[in-house]
Amino acid sequence: MCGIFGVHGAPDAAELVHLGLYSLQHRGQESAGIVAVDQNGTAQAHRGMGLISEALTSGVLEQLRGDLAIGHTRYSTAGSSTIENAQPVLVRFRGGYIALAHNGNIVNATELRRDLEAQGSIFNSTMDSEVLVHRMARSQAERPEDRLTDALRGVEGAYSLLVATGDTLMAARDPRGWRPLAIGTLGDTFVFASETCALDIVGATHLRDVQPGEIVIVDRQGLRSVQALEPLESRRCVFEYVYFARPDSRIFGGGSVDRARRALGRALGREQPAPTADLVFGVPDSANAAALGYAEETGLPLELALIRNHYVGRTFIQPSQQGRNHKVKVKYNAVREVLEGKSVVMIDDSIVRGTTTRGLVHLVRAAGAREVHMRIASPPVTGPCYYGIDTPSREELIAANLSVEEIARHIGVDSLGYLSLEGMLAAVPDGPHGFCHACFSGDYPTAPPTDPDKLRFGCGC
Ligand code: 5GP
Ligand code: SF4
Ligand code: MG
Repeated sequence: MCGIFGVHGAPDAAELVHLGLYSLQHRGQESAGIVAVDQNGTAQAHRGMGLISEALTSGVLEQLRGDLAIGHTRYSTAGSSTIENAQPVLVRFRGGYIALAHNGNIVNATELRRDLEAQGSIFNSTMDSEVLVHRMARSQAERPEDRLTDALRGVEGAYSLLVATGDTLMAARDPRGWRPLAIGTLGDTFVFASETCALDIVGATHLRDVQPGEIVIVDRQGLRSVQALEPLESRRCVFEYVYFARPDSRIFGGGSVDRARRALGRALGREQPAPTADLVFGVPDSANAAALGYAEETGLPLELALIRNHYVGRTFIQPSQQGRNHKVKVKYNAVREVLEGKSVVMIDDSIVRGTTTRGLVHLVRAAGAREVHMRIASPPVTGPCYYGIDTPSREELIAANLSVEEIARHIGVDSLGYLSLEGMLAAVPDGPHGFCHACFSGDYPTAPPTDPDKLRFGCGC
């Protein structure tokens, strides 16, 4: 997954982008970058590995001058976590420069890339996003939005994009609207962000979202829009509500992530009560809101039984399995005073590999819990995501290989209950229709990529 942020029309735009990226750090922690464009149309890029604070130091920002800038935070699959794959992409071609930041994943990138390579194109990275830049550079159209439309025709999959060329900034979303992308205003300045929490940090007002299939164009004349591609049946990623987005964001046309997670927790409480339990707690931070909802619904007292160390990155994001195992204890500790002798409900938003969960159950038992009832505020994840969330291959997904009872035994709980697919879709704002839920249901909106091995071509987001 990735976070994208763009600014048009503010002096020192890169500084605003830098600030905005901090609020999108949760969407990607492996690399970060900014491209800034000055009044003469000269584009400068800086990309680095790691957190924003590591990748973009203050000395760097001073060199990124201009009133147009776009930025990106990225996480990737193991193996493709290299500086070549850091974004934004910046290329120079006969028409000037193109800079692009992408959140999502292009499903037919392999075919598109093969076609380009057959015609002599050379690639710098293993990212699907680079294909888009090549296609734009080859377009014979005059207007930037027509070049982008040419590039996007025939592209299948998920993309929320920020593209800068000349003195123009464009924002686009795929025709199914898979990933969020918000437009904000700050005086005369236009701001674009994956999530509204990043508009808040720069003091921008949320104007509206970029619509599926739409290209929003900002240049010296102001903002305009074209419906570049016919919208398809809506497929907003439900996992954004379940796990990915920040609870202080509103996504997909104003849906509160906090409200969604509480509703998921309440639905879980109705579907999967735990009558013998004394208390409930969430696995911080991602399940806190769902645990609140569960407590509201069941009347169980909400406790803080696990403490998370905030100075360690997300376990899931560590590229190697070994790294992940060690990280559980580094990242969490249990509070004995809360747990000792108690029958507890432990809420999490999802189980992916089961590695973290198993480690956490062990911690909770070691701190004296008598019974552990695990409740999950989404259905079992049974398939990979091809649309930008870096869920692992089917072999590594615990629910693709074990039944609920087997998972319960594997993670060491007394009982395990998941929210149903219907329960999840009814709980999220503007549900139950128009969402992608393929990783839970197997109902993939596109054919799977011919080369799902993301290590070869990387995951653009
Ligand atoms: P597991 O037990 O599957 O190893 O880890 C479960 C935890 O991973 C949950 O707490 C959940 O919040 C988190 N998680 C679920 N999906 C993702 C994801 O795509 N990225 C990251 N970083 N964490 C995830
Ligand atoms: Fe979101 Fe799952 Fe669909 Fe991927 S497969 S876009 S994670 S709902
Ligand atoms: Mg979590």
